[in-house]
Amino acid sequence: MEKEKVYVFKAALKYRKGPWRRIEIKGNQTLGDFDHIMREAFNHDTGDHLSEFFSGRVWHSERFGEIEPGGSGSSAKKQIDQLGLTEGNAIEYVYDFGDDIQHVITLEKIVELEKEAKYPHIASKNKPRYRYCELCKKQGKNTIATWICIECSEEEQREVLLCEDCLEKKHEDHYADEILY
Ligand SMILES: [Zn+2]
Ligand SMILES: [Zn+2]
Repeated sequence: MEKEKVYVFKAALKYRKGPWRRIEIKGNQTLGDFDHIMREAFNHDTGDHLSEFFSGRVWHSERFGEIEPGGSGSSAKKQIDQLGLTEGNAIEYVYDFGDDIQHVITLEKIVELEKEAKYPHIASKNKPRYRYCELCKKQGKNTIATWICIECSEEEQREVLLCEDCLEKKHEDHYADEILY
């Protein structure tokens, strides 16, 4: 019997250098499964917003079909090994049609299934380059920033980075985004 195939992808944000995730998924798994691990890998909500895979550039190439929050949708059952991908090919993925967060996903290699593990999974990721909370820093403490206050950043025309504690205490009710490392 032919061995099962594992597809090894490297997924990265299209417009931000730094964060990437290597994702392994079996050929007989689906875009619904892939969507789920993409949301987990890039801290996207699983219960909110549509997403979609494209054969090439987002909005400018063949659409594989929307995936709804929760993993249903027109392309959710399409299998990875039915996408016609060969090593080196890149597809793209958009999360949230409003915020339009685009990702490039390159197929690095296709290997035979060696060990039974839970698929899909995140096999490796970039080494994080942490940044620090500016309010803690003023008090001489180095605390990793996990939030960017969008409101203050836009107002002050610079990145206002905060830890969770300082966000809650000093930027309560401000619109903020979690920082992906
Ligand atoms: Zn802080
Ligand atoms: Zn703020």
